[in-house]
Order: sequence, then structure tokens, then C-alpha cells
Amino acid sequence: MENICLEGIVVSSLIYKEKSKIVYLYTKDGMVSFRALGSLNEKKGMLPLTTTINHLSVIMSNKAFPRALDYTLLDSYEYIKSDLKKTLFMQYILEIISKLPEDSPHERVFNLLKRILELFKDYDGLMLTTIFMIKMTYSFGVAPILKKCVICNKQNTMYFSIRDGGALCSEHYKRDVFNKDILDKIKEIYYLDIYNESLDRIKDYDMIELFRIVNLYYNNHVDIYLKGASSLIF
Ligand SMILES: [Zn+2]
Repeated sequence: MENICLEGIVVSSLIYKEKSKIVYLYTKDGMVSFRALGSLNEKKGMLPLTTTINHLSVIMSNKAFPRALDYTLLDSYEYIKSDLKKTLFMQYILEIISKLPEDSPHERVFNLLKRILELFKDYDGLMLTTIFMIKMTYSFGVAPILKKCVICNKQNTMYFSIRDGGALCSEHYKRDVFNKDILDKIKEIYYLDIYNESLDRIKDYDMIELFRIVNLYYNNHVDIYLKGASSLIF
């Protein structure tokens, strides 16, 4: 069987047998795992193949549990790794990626992930993780309804409700909703074209508040457990 070549981002790795690792690589087709045999042997120079966040092109055997045969390091994102805070936010993003259901729109997520990695050069982790999580609600199948009231479809929306999954009009006010300012900011971020538009117009938003809200939204609507969100914003 011919070997295969896959491009992806290293999400995590774990020790396998005595001197090897299993690497989890996120690609446009979803998560792939492969064996990096002998990679714990420093002399072999395989550290970049197993380092989290690295962007790689990997040639591997075409088997059920493939083995890496060769690789090219495409980017190591040193501007993230040299900054502890950015690294912690990036790990949080990769944790979310690792919990995506198998039938997710992986190509779309992979492109979003690569764009977010690029943006880390100029923007902080809190802002980028908030943007990432708001946009990823779509991929988890729980995108909020933002342009009309969730309950009556009226377009004069006034509030944002986590529990109802989106906007509410003035008639459907509830006690635990967020105000129109929050609704507008979430809408702005959700629809922001981060491939072509500058992020500068949202850079003054209170990202701590939005990060808290989007994490609450995930707790309510996404069936995954994320640890450590609060430690990121102390
Ligand atoms: Zn309504």
C-alpha cells in the first residue's frame, strides 16, 4: 500500500512503549493518530514531530494505526510558545478541538484553527479564544440565534439568553438575560470575517466578560467538559 501524506496541527501526544509516542494530529479530515517510533530518543531529532501546536506535513504508512515515516515542520509558532499566557489559551483551544464530534465540519474548523494561530502573532489569547469559541458553536451544532427572537421570531431583539440559545425581544425578557450591548458584541464577533477584516474594531470589548459568557454557553449547550477556563482569566 502506498504511503499517505497529511497536513495538520499537533494537538497532543502521549508516551507509547519505551521510546516512542503516539501523536494526535488535527487535519482537514478530522483527528488522526500515528506512532512516532523512537521519538523519545533525542538523537533521532524527532522532537518537532511530537510537539503540541506544531504545524506539520507528515508522511505515514497507510495502515489502521499508521507510523510516521518522515515529516516537514511547516510552522512552530514560536510567538505563541515563547509566551506562557498565549500557550495556555492555545492549549485550551486544542482541548476544544480534541472534543469535536467525528462528524464535524473539519475542513472549516481546520481553516479557522490555522487562521487563529496566525492571529496570535498580533492579538492576545483571551480575545482569540473568545472569538474561536463563539465561532465554534456552529461546528458543535449549537450556534446561537442572534438576528431574531428565539421564541417569537421578532427582529427587535434586546437581550441575549444563554438558556434559550440566543436573542430575545423586549416581550420575552427573563431575569437571567444579558443586555443588548452583550447581544450586539456576540453578534459582531460571530459574523466577523476574521480572514479579511481587521480585529481592531472589537479589541476594546470586555473580553473577560465575553469569555465568561461563552464558557457558560458551552456548559449549557455543548456536551463536553472543559477544565481550567476560570484559571485563564484570573
Ligand atoms: Zn420574542
